[in-house]
Amino acid sequence: MIEQRRVLNAIHQGGSGSGVSYYGAANTCGRRAILDREYPRISDLSDPRDNAATVGTLFHLFAEAYYTNTPLEGAVEINQLSGTSNWAEAQRLFKEHRSRFPKESGGMGKVIACEMDLPVRGPDGEPVSLDNPFGVEKFTARIDMVVEHTEDSIKVFEKERGLVLPEPGIYLVDHKTKGRMDPHMEYGWKMGYQTSAYMMYYEYLFGVRPKGMIMNVIIRHKKLTDASFVAYLIPYPDEDQQQATKWFMQRGEQNVKIGAPNPGACIGQYGACVHLTSGTCNRYK
Ligand code: SF4
Repeated sequence: MIEQRRVLNAIHQGGSGSGVSYYGAANTCGRRAILDREYPRISDLSDPRDNAATVGTLFHLFAEAYYTNTPLEGAVEINQLSGTSNWAEAQRLFKEHRSRFPKESGGMGKVIACEMDLPVRGPDGEPVSLDNPFGVEKFTARIDMVVEHTEDSIKVFEKERGLVLPEPGIYLVDHKTKGRMDPHMEYGWKMGYQTSAYMMYYEYLFGVRPKGMIMNVIIRHKKLTDASFVAYLIPYPDEDQQQATKWFMQRGEQNVKIGAPNPGACIGQYGACVHLTSGTCNRYK
């Protein structure tokens, strides 16, 4: 059994500064990635407003406690969060998930690990090795679940989720909570870098190629029905996708080394860069 840790231990610390989102920012603007590291955005968990990220994190916590038979009471921050609307929403989602896919059915397969931080850390908490398959100095990941499927569990999974897994073996699982059904999300995950990077990194570290990554999606409908629970299988990346993932990381690392601003990214699809509005980027002073 690979060591497990409680997800909420890290919730206040912002991004790791070396995960997929860091490299995404670095691809957009090298200066932004540097400033993100210098001025990390801290989640305010006490904010009573509905917050999709906090609901997602709590869902992960409930799933971890459930699938590893760990008492929830041991979780860090439980006092701060229980009783909030985010907590209630996450509980609503998880209760429905659990009633449809109880662990006793075996449909999830054998749970090998939950909330697995990579690289693997030694007893002193330091990474055993920063070696990675991407040709960059450092890459970090947190895998929601690692499961092992047998012929039998594949049959149960198909019956419960309507999704055929190709063969027995190791699968990574990613839990997603979404506000609405997006017809393009499956393609986004297939062509995105997170799924590829996680599967490649897992194989590199443990010598076992995952058969794929199961995206376990809950659409947060007001009234949850079977249609609110969707699963997709993202296959192991082909050679083009593997190469693209390596270039993505290396390009990002290079952009950060140069520290170059990218004026084209200051105002984007989702509004202005936070470092522009906060004044932490001195590009236009
Ligand atoms: S304001 Fe523009 S140049 Fe500055 S960090 Fe943001 S995206 Fe980069």
